[in-house]
Amino acid sequence: MAKLKPVYAFEEADSENRMLLGGKGAGLSEMTRLKLPVPPGFTITTHVCNQYYENGRKLEKNIISEVMKNIVKIEKKTGKKWNSTNNPLLVSVRSGAAISMPGMMDTILNLGLNEQTVLGLAKKTNNPRFAWDSYRRFIQLFGKVVFGVNDEKFDYVLNAAKKRQGVNDDSKLSIDSLKKIVREYKKICDDYTKRKFPNNPNEQLQLAIEAVFKSWTGERAIVYREKNNITKDIANGTAVNIVTMVFGNMGDDSATGVVFTRNGHNGKKEIEGEYLINAQGEDVVAGVRTGNDISKLKIEMPKSYKELSGACSKLEKHFREPQDIEFTIEMGKFYLLQTRTAKMSAGALVKTSVDMVKEKLIDKNRALTRIPAQQLEALLHKTIDQNKIKGFERLVKGIAASPGAANGIAVFDVKRAIAMGENNKKVILIRQETKPEDVPAFFSSEGILTSQGGKSSHAAIVSRGMGKPCIVGCSDLKIDYENNRCIANGITILEGEPITVDGSTGVVYIGDVPTVEPQVTKDFQTILLWAKNTKKLGIRANADTPDAAKLARKFGAEGIGLCRTERMFNATDRIGLFVDMIMATNDSQRKQILKKLGQLQKSDFVQILKAMEGYKVTIRLLDPPLHEFLPNPEELMDRIYKNKKGENLSETKKVLERAKELAEINPMMGHRGVRVGITYPDIYRMQITAVFEAAIELSKKKVNAKPQIMIPQVGSIAELDHIKEIYDDVKSEIQKKYKTRININFGTMLEVVRACLTSNELVKTAEFFSFGTNDLTQAVFSFSREDAEGKFLPEYMEKELLEISPFQSIDVNGVGNLMKIGIKQGRSIKKDLEIGICGEHGGDPNSIKFCHLSNISYVSASPHRIPIAIVAAAQAVIEQKKRK
Ligand code: PEP
Ligand code: MG
Repeated sequence: MAKLKPVYAFEEADSENRMLLGGKGAGLSEMTRLKLPVPPGFTITTHVCNQYYENGRKLEKNIISEVMKNIVKIEKKTGKKWNSTNNPLLVSVRSGAAISMPGMMDTILNLGLNEQTVLGLAKKTNNPRFAWDSYRRFIQLFGKVVFGVNDEKFDYVLNAAKKRQGVNDDSKLSIDSLKKIVREYKKICDDYTKRKFPNNPNEQLQLAIEAVFKSWTGERAIVYREKNNITKDIANGTAVNIVTMVFGNMGDDSATGVVFTRNGHNGKKEIEGEYLINAQGEDVVAGVRTGNDISKLKIEMPKSYKELSGACSKLEKHFREPQDIEFTIEMGKFYLLQTRTAKMSAGALVKTSVDMVKEKLIDKNRALTRIPAQQLEALLHKTIDQNKIKGFERLVKGIAASPGAANGIAVFDVKRAIAMGENNKKVILIRQETKPEDVPAFFSSEGILTSQGGKSSHAAIVSRGMGKPCIVGCSDLKIDYENNRCIANGITILEGEPITVDGSTGVVYIGDVPTVEPQVTKDFQTILLWAKNTKKLGIRANADTPDAAKLARKFGAEGIGLCRTERMFNATDRIGLFVDMIMATNDSQRKQILKKLGQLQKSDFVQILKAMEGYKVTIRLLDPPLHEFLPNPEELMDRIYKNKKGENLSETKKVLERAKELAEINPMMGHRGVRVGITYPDIYRMQITAVFEAAIELSKKKVNAKPQIMIPQVGSIAELDHIKEIYDDVKSEIQKKYKTRININFGTMLEVVRACLTSNELVKTAEFFSFGTNDLTQAVFSFSREDAEGKFLPEYMEKELLEISPFQSIDVNGVGNLMKIGIKQGRSIKKDLEIGICGEHGGDPNSIKFCHLSNISYVSASPHRIPIAIVAAAQAVIEQKKRK
């Protein structure tokens, strides 16, 4: 298209410029070009919509004259006349943005009817019942959309008329009834607007176009765009399509329907959908009447079914995508009213991708890029059974932090959750927030729910690592630990009552909502294989247990990018020892306890390294501040105050003293990571020893173990060198003891701003880097990762100050630039330096694309996000090639 016009007839355009014509307009134009039976019409562009808003919600003068010129073109094509009393031309006025927003904007049908043209339509069709039915439908839709009249008022009149006449079905209403309804509908509008209902079709048309433009900024549409991250660069304004009316309500040889060219739930190659005889499009969409299965059309209207199925395959071949099609049959003549890419379930997307490659409809690259990688996660978790959800009440909604659905009874106490879990009770752990000491309860719970915290809060990260459904930041949920209950939206849930959490949407339901098991199909494996052969990025897992390592490997992980060793201290058999170590009053006591802990860690490392045999396993030394392993001082004071039976008061008082000593105002920037290693070198010594000894044990057994040691929170070369000295010292000690040589890489995280800025210094000691983008994001924005998403970030997004949480997707301009500095400086000294990323962003498709373009060596993601990462990494390669 050369110079932009405000209005395009369908035959003048194609499907190339969706931003300008909207999806519906583009589809109608393309179908017209393909010589498919589309009723004549034209599209008013999204550009006109934006001008309308720029002009203070006014249409520019030339628009209506352009519209009228195109109405004349339709008159010529159809032989019908605008505002005619013999053969009137009626149109539908339909919204349509670049991205489909089903049901979010407005549409008006049967426009052009008035007191005169209704008579013309009755005469021309020899069907007065149909003409008056269309007229009453028009007034209702126009009244609702243009004037904002409440639908219920019209429904009341319609229902009263049906009752008077003693019929159940609209189509059985007599002409007299319909005429009366029209009068009453008009009166409703007149009373509401205090003006006469517009009789002139030109005025009707202008008001309808403006109403559709207005619906772009209607509340429904705004919320939908927000929820679906539809930003201005994806869809900017709506187009308006004016389409000649064709009628599915002209009798029993007429019908209207909606179909998918392939099954949208399971991807099977079959036309799926429904239709209604003697009805108009909105009856199907609104579910006013229950539609017939489309297979029945083959018997009822075989000729039309043949045309439909021909159109389905032609459109699929043309768009190389399953289509979602709307059709109407008017007195036996078949018309297409819309085509768009069918929205499918993750399973259907995978199956259709593989099938279409087999059918030679698309190539493998297209098969991979058409699947939104994020959606694949649904295939690896239990999901809510959408067919059985009806009747279950929502309790509250929070931030969807770890996907999947889980049922269980509400439990508010960590110890009780552990005990009940061990007794095979299904538990949902509900806490304001969680701490490392709560981790044992994660193992025994089906799902986790917290009232505070964001996507990178402790609860979120631990749950994702374990593949457990989790919802965080549920600020409307008030937890009353004292009385073992929680309250949300006026509803109280007591401990022991069943709830369901949907970690994919953030919704909490009351009761046991049925769920559907995940399905790793052969087709899914095929997609992963194609993606693996395409991608360049390495894919590793964030895994801290042998089970997680095995699972990650099964999903395709090529190593572990982050093993958070502190998680191992949280297991039930270790937390006591670890607390004793913190409480130790002298060095020798501490050393003794550390020895025992070292043995336990070594056996964990042995198992994890074995599970990942042949692949690198990056073991990070202790990161959290020590007080995180102790109960918090308020809780301890409460215990002392209550002095319940079994409480060892003097012991609790000692723990309180230590907890107070270790407490910090701002722990995230406090005594953690390398700083713990420097002040308590024995802890790091113990961990390094455990890694070395695990490697030696495995090498004796001929297991190809590849551990590497990583230091967290490093900000200077002085810190890193200090730990390197400990590492070297332990190394020579162990080499001597076991009479063997050890070759284990020593690296650092880049998660402190200064580390990125001085990576050219760090690289002299570090043999690899790994970006900790959780902490880096926290530092770059000065946003607390524990609080931001639950507190102010949603409002930032609502007010368009941020498009997406930077804790979810890498902030390319800020954090991303800092990473680029880190990469460039590091590689300027060691050209082939291995650089990974192990923050939560490692499983986010957009962040993965950024990593690919930044030449990062690998991304590391929680086990259940490995398939997403593999596919997203392949998509990054394909998209990059396309751009070149
Ligand atoms: C990070 O900061 O990105 C990271 C991986 O470390 P953690 O989340 O354990 O602080
Ligand atoms: Mg970190």
